[in-house]
Amino acid sequence: MRPSERSTAELPTTELPIAQYPHAEYSTSQQPRVIVVGLGFGGLATLKELRNRFSVLVLDRNGYTTFQPLLYQVATAGLAPSDVAYPARAISGKYGARFRHGEVTGINPAERTVSLADGSQIGYDYLILATGATAAYYGVGGAAEHARSLYTRRDAITLRDELLGRLDGLAAVSQAGRAGRAGRAGRLVITIVGGNATGVEMAGSLAELRNSALETAYPEIDPTQVEVRLVEQLPELLTPFAPALRRYAAAELAKRGVDVRLGTAIKEVKPEAILLASGETLPSDLTVWAAGVQAPSAAAAWGLEQGKGGRIVVEPDLRVRGQDRIFAVGDIAADAEQPLPQLAQPALQMGRHAARQIRLLARGEPTVPFGYRDKGIMATIGRRSAVVQLGRGRRFRGTIAWLAWLGLHLVTLLGNRNRISALINLSWRYVAWNHGGGLIVGDDQSGSSGSPGPADPDGPADSRPPGRDASAAESAARRRYTAGPGDGAGVL
Ligand SMILES: Cc1cc2nc3c(=O)[nH]c(=O)nc-3n(C[C@H](O)[C@H](O)[C@H](O)COP(=O)(O)OP(=O)(O)OC[C@H]3O[C@@H](n4cnc5c(N)ncnc54)[C@H](O)[C@@H]3O)c2cc1C
Repeated sequence: MRPSERSTAELPTTELPIAQYPHAEYSTSQQPRVIVVGLGFGGLATLKELRNRFSVLVLDRNGYTTFQPLLYQVATAGLAPSDVAYPARAISGKYGARFRHGEVTGINPAERTVSLADGSQIGYDYLILATGATAAYYGVGGAAEHARSLYTRRDAITLRDELLGRLDGLAAVSQAGRAGRAGRAGRLVITIVGGNATGVEMAGSLAELRNSALETAYPEIDPTQVEVRLVEQLPELLTPFAPALRRYAAAELAKRGVDVRLGTAIKEVKPEAILLASGETLPSDLTVWAAGVQAPSAAAAWGLEQGKGGRIVVEPDLRVRGQDRIFAVGDIAADAEQPLPQLAQPALQMGRHAARQIRLLARGEPTVPFGYRDKGIMATIGRRSAVVQLGRGRRFRGTIAWLAWLGLHLVTLLGNRNRISALINLSWRYVAWNHGGGLIVGDDQSGSSGSPGPADPDGPADSRPPGRDASAAESAARRRYTAGPGDGAGVL
């Protein structure tokens, strides 16, 4: 019998009386308890479907949900961190759910409890895992230590501060007319590794910053002193897109002065260089890793079956293999029969489906298999340049595609305040950058740390390069970009 045909008749019948749930943190209702772990696209999508029918507790290691598709804008000083984050309590409350800030470290399916990093345990009737992905380094030496990744709000702030700190250093060197730490012979070389959407967007955005904003923001720097390089080991960029769109994206990046290196594999990332598989060493003052994702290593401790990239294996109805009450959705989940890209749409659709299956199970009805509806993909290169490929094969590019990208991203941001703020900031970026428009540097509470440390709550240790050295001068430069009262959950 396929898992999708199972019904509650097969589920364990040892329902715990509600009062016995250890550390019960749910609302006082007597409805079945559902824990949703992770408030990204997948987790958010579950809430609407579960509303008013279940007592839902959301657990996330951050007090906010992050809109990852615009993180690169934060990293390149075009958006504020608070534009892409929304308070988890507010959005959970809107759907009648409770929120608890905490990191899930263990799952005990027999007792139907999850363990948190603080040692507490919480019981559930149904569990939805929507914990997302983190950087995959594919065994490339030095990548975790010396490259910056871009998966969390903290990653974006760290990257932005390092970028601006290095530009500051370069400006100081240029002013003094001498070469120094900020760039070999007065240069700053930035390498982005990975030619899929994140890498292309990051490279395009950095090129735009150099071409449009430097002249006014850093008049001491000649834009030719800043080099932006995009390295991809495959022979083309944006491989999920049609060949014509791939070629268009490569040509647009080249037009913006990005040094696009296709068919180029990286063997090692060093503190200020990259070593290619060909044996060539290229200087790189700042290396950004955008080459792929995998499940966080912490997922291995959950005792659930894992597939390629550490993703948790799910059955067609999205229940975790071998589990009757645990679902996995989004980037963390892998359906062997229906491999899906790690993108927002699959996470949203899987989240909705898992919640609907819980409704079926609670009514004693059999579950149904998940079917993905491909709505399309898009990527932007920069002002008035993007590629869009709709699910049914329609494609467009250029200004129309860019406007579609802009509109969709603004609409899908959570909260009117974020939408308005992002609209203002993006308009500022695209209209005013080359007329003296300022870079966005503020609203970070603890960015003075520059390098994220192990106690950083904004992501798993393996999403961030540990132990990255920063000179005192760089740290000081970064600290200058941390202003304002903070953008934690309370101030959004
Ligand atoms: C820079 C970047 C740009 C992107 N651009 C696009 C794009 O343009 N279009 C697109 O479709 N997709 C894009 N994606 C991919 C898309 O954002 C992801 O596919 C999507 O966010 C996956 O949703 P999710 O719910 O699975 O995980 P996420 O959205 O990553 O959410 C996971 C949540 O789980 C929490 N969490 C993780 N572990 C734990 C734990 N142990 N305990 C408690 N909480 C935990 C995290 O804090 C987070 O809130 C981009 C991704 C990145 C990183």
